[in-house]
Amino acid sequence: MVEQTDPDCIFCRIVRGEFGTAFVAESDTAVAIRDIQPQAPTHVLVVPRRHLRSLDEVKSEDRQLAGDLLALAAQVARQEGIVESGYRVLTNNGPDAGQTVFHLHFHVLGGRRLSGGLG
Ligand code: AMP
Ligand code: ZN
Repeated sequence: MVEQTDPDCIFCRIVRGEFGTAFVAESDTAVAIRDIQPQAPTHVLVVPRRHLRSLDEVKSEDRQLAGDLLALAAQVARQEGIVESGYRVLTNNGPDAGQTVFHLHFHVLGGRRLSGGLG
């Protein structure tokens, strides 16, 4: 059984409302928060309420959660008014990808021309 929450995890604490962080959007399974160090005019993180370390822990039985996360990312983009101009959704998985917070999250980036490269 995967742990549902980690008392030392910053995103678990944000999800629990410990810091009063505003949720840009939320669903039964996830919340969306503004990145503390935004890399674009819109930089929102879609964070599952449940603690999963990274995409690597998402299994087939989590398919509903995975769908919910992407649907919430798309909702955030609509709310932010960046659908027409375009936006990027990504997750960093592990050290080589530069993951720094080990609680799964999707970045929603937009509001400026993003670089063409993927790494
Ligand atoms: P990653 O490198 O993919 O793990 O992304 C982690 C992201 O979380 C970074 O873009 C950080 O700026 C962001 N971040 C870290 N702490 C917080 C926080 N307390 N509130 C909002 N964003 C945060
Ligand atoms: Zn966590």
